[in-house]
Amino acid sequence: MLERFLGSRRVRQIQRAFRHGKITILCLVMTVVVLRGTIGAGKFGTPEQDFIEIRDHLYSRKRAEPHRVLEEAQTTSTETTSANANSYVAFDPMKLAVDEEDDGPKRDPNEPYSLGPKITDWDEQRSDWLKENPSFPNFIRENTPRVLLVTGSSPKPCENPVGDHYLLKSIKNKIDYCRLHAIEVFYNFALLDAEMAGFWAKLPLIRKLLLSHPEVEFLWWMDSDAMFTDMAFEIPWDRYKDHNFVMHGWNEMVYDEKNWIGLNTGSFLLRNCQWTLDILDAWAPMGPKGKVRDDAGKILTRELKNRPVFEADDQSAMVYILATQKEKWGDKVYLENHYYLHGYWGILVDNYEEYIEKYHPGLGDHRWPLVTHFVGCKPCGKFGDYSVERCLTQMDRAFNFGDNQILQMYGFAHQSLGSRKVKRIRNETGNPLEVKDEYGLLHPSFKAVKVSSS
Ligand code: UDP
Ligand code: MN
Repeated sequence: MLERFLGSRRVRQIQRAFRHGKITILCLVMTVVVLRGTIGAGKFGTPEQDFIEIRDHLYSRKRAEPHRVLEEAQTTSTETTSANANSYVAFDPMKLAVDEEDDGPKRDPNEPYSLGPKITDWDEQRSDWLKENPSFPNFIRENTPRVLLVTGSSPKPCENPVGDHYLLKSIKNKIDYCRLHAIEVFYNFALLDAEMAGFWAKLPLIRKLLLSHPEVEFLWWMDSDAMFTDMAFEIPWDRYKDHNFVMHGWNEMVYDEKNWIGLNTGSFLLRNCQWTLDILDAWAPMGPKGKVRDDAGKILTRELKNRPVFEADDQSAMVYILATQKEKWGDKVYLENHYYLHGYWGILVDNYEEYIEKYHPGLGDHRWPLVTHFVGCKPCGKFGDYSVERCLTQMDRAFNFGDNQILQMYGFAHQSLGSRKVKRIRNETGNPLEVKDEYGLLHPSFKAVKVSSS
């Protein structure tokens, strides 16, 4: 949620125009022109002020990620000047179909089609393998807590034609990670409490799930716009044995600076205990939609560093609670930054090729991020805070980067990180169980990878 509302004043004005005027795309263009005039006249802040705001946002991230900010600053500042580029409604999804043309048949059409090398002794191969690997499946989690990963989206279809496709990619990605790590998944599609719509919806849901699943030790909330990009990394559970709430963040930014982006609530871990129920109760009061949320937003903007003007959000509320009641909650909260429990997409996605060249999955950090979170892209909405083309292109890359770690187990990979198509990376043999996948994720020794990464 690093820059959830970067450029949001302009975006909100346009959204309002949409609601009130039922306007067409032609009118949208007109609106942008009018808005630009209004902004120029100073009603919503001059372009210079906007730039200062953007720069300040980047500066606060700069302290955490000094080396990768410049590139981001260049793209971000141009994108926020072009509202139409941020519209999912105006975007043609076919623009993304870069490699859809048919390559034509590669095999000799005179030969009968075959699924692969003929295997006749599969029952024997399989039973030998089961004898050699008696403890398989390795996903019986030894010395790791029982975890429930929870994610979800609005009960309505997305407000743009491709949004639901990206939600599907995102849940496929989570299912893959959770299958490998023996984590249960709960996908929520129901708004349990109408007052707590939007990013507050997770609170009533989390409480209900904790109370209904006493067998679960840790609940892992993950936003629908966040994807696993390290399929091998296991959370270092031991590190949190004395803590109840783990978020990506920095102590100084939260407790000293009261910076609204000092932590992120797009991917976090909560222990199932009384303490957690108590902090959920302390967290929720700013959530109810309408006057309560709007008024609370004013307090948060006044009290927190660099926070733009907008209604109360769950992330700012958590920063505020921790910064103002550190003695009460601080000792059980772990702000993690040694690996990416949440990783801001803008500083990661362009580096995937470099990670592939130099590193391997299982690291979870700046060398191979556990999670890439598309803060501000709003892929299920009408407008995002960034260019739609950039968001969707980068979401495809993140998905494919994670998916390659899955596909390689089966001998396939995406043709490139930008491509939906896959290619073979291994030829099949008559002894499929002797093949080792590149990262060892399919192999019984994967358990060793898990242990060494924590
Ligand atoms: N969400 C939900 N129901 C809703 C709207 C949102 O469960 O009706 C969830 C969804 O998983 C989404 C998350 O709340 O990812 C937070 O919103 P978003 O990711 O858009 O915020 P950002 O991370 O961009 O600040
Ligand atoms: Mn998000």
